[in-house]
Amino acid sequence: MPARNAVLEDALAEARETYARRRPESRRLHEAATEVLPGGNTRSVLFHGPFPFTAVSGEGCRIRDADGHVYVSMIGEYTAGLFGHSHPAIRAAVLRALEAGVNLTAHNPFEARFARLVRDRFPSLELVRFTNSGTEANLLALAAATVATGRRTILGFHGGYHGGLLTFAGGGSPVNVPHRVILAPYNDADAAAALARDHAGDLAAIILEPMLGGGGCIPAALPFLQRLRALADETGALLVFDEVMTSRLAPGGLQEATGVIPDLTTLGKYVGGGMSFGAFGGRAAVMAAFDPRRPDAVPHAGTFNNNTLTMSAGIAALEEVYTPGVATAHNEAGDALRRALNDAAASRGLPLQVTGRGSMMAFHFAPAPPRDAAEAAAANQPLKELLFLDLLERGWYIARRGMVALSLLVEDAERAGFHAAVEEFLDLRAPLIRDAVADAPLPAAAAGV
Ligand code: PMP
Repeated sequence: MPARNAVLEDALAEARETYARRRPESRRLHEAATEVLPGGNTRSVLFHGPFPFTAVSGEGCRIRDADGHVYVSMIGEYTAGLFGHSHPAIRAAVLRALEAGVNLTAHNPFEARFARLVRDRFPSLELVRFTNSGTEANLLALAAATVATGRRTILGFHGGYHGGLLTFAGGGSPVNVPHRVILAPYNDADAAAALARDHAGDLAAIILEPMLGGGGCIPAALPFLQRLRALADETGALLVFDEVMTSRLAPGGLQEATGVIPDLTTLGKYVGGGMSFGAFGGRAAVMAAFDPRRPDAVPHAGTFNNNTLTMSAGIAALEEVYTPGVATAHNEAGDALRRALNDAAASRGLPLQVTGRGSMMAFHFAPAPPRDAAEAAAANQPLKELLFLDLLERGWYIARRGMVALSLLVEDAERAGFHAAVEEFLDLRAPLIRDAVADAPLPAAAAGV
């Protein structure tokens, strides 16, 4: 275990050194991968210094790395791994699909049954279509909005993430699709309204996550969502909720929990039982554009859109495992853990905020919970790396960016163990945390959401 260091940089250097020393096989695999993948990577989020570890197997909520270390996964495949790594119901569903034969090149009995389960669960969905990822779902939803409105401008929010080609963190990404995008600060309805009115004649869609996920598990204030609903109605734009992550936070997603019903919704992650998955859907009048019986139908191709493995796993996921009652209980457990973690920091007088809702949460080393991307960015970042590395050494795997997504296999014992590990971190690192955050600029607004 690393000794207490006076200076954060020293502590980090030591933690990185310990990490590297204990993972020679992961280092070897990473170096070999760099010969065929840029930086040894084909999924940006998984990269971290000094080099990312390789997981060789997983069971329940635990994974084993190439050097034999076992971790409890507290990140659960960034919300897609809600069912852990070996859920019997999901395995059985995949086997059923395999036994029926894959790649049938035709409609199969799973897809409409799965579509009905998805449609019936989320209030905004009248009709739905499947894709292979959340990224694709958002690309299609925005395309549908431009087709339905005949307009081009998209209002998004700083810190929003809607897939690799629709990243609004840091103001955008060079690989974003070339929509006309205008961005407002999250949780700032006045700014969104002013921007929307400036572009009212051309506004096709207002897209947001009803809680920023990758942007730091920052919930939207209810009046913010309500005003965006009114703004969409006023301007004739479609309100699109990206519930790729947040749909797990209540039986019918955050749209059900908040009562704010979007025109279109995108889904992904766990809904396909942990297989490759995405979906978009909403008002029948908008989705009808994709009806191939129409002479003017808009095409939406995709070889794997109805692949039997995802369809079958998704049916099991919604019908057998993540039932409404399970969803409610799981998120209550997450709320309790988040409160306990915040209490652990507050009782030590430490500036750590755990934001989020239900089974998703994120750590911010800041004096007050951030309400938007700028406030999240103002929190201390090196401390997050130290937390990540210190927790790994104790056998707990969270996202490098400080995010936690609880799988159903993380039960009472794991939640208690994680709480204890974070308390140990806080006790060991208390002076560092106090010094580092005292030096940081205070967020502009200090009130919680
Ligand atoms: N939207 C949100 C809110 C997400 O968190 C993600 C993935 N992290 C996506 C879209 C993209 O989904 P996928 O990775 O399946 O393309």
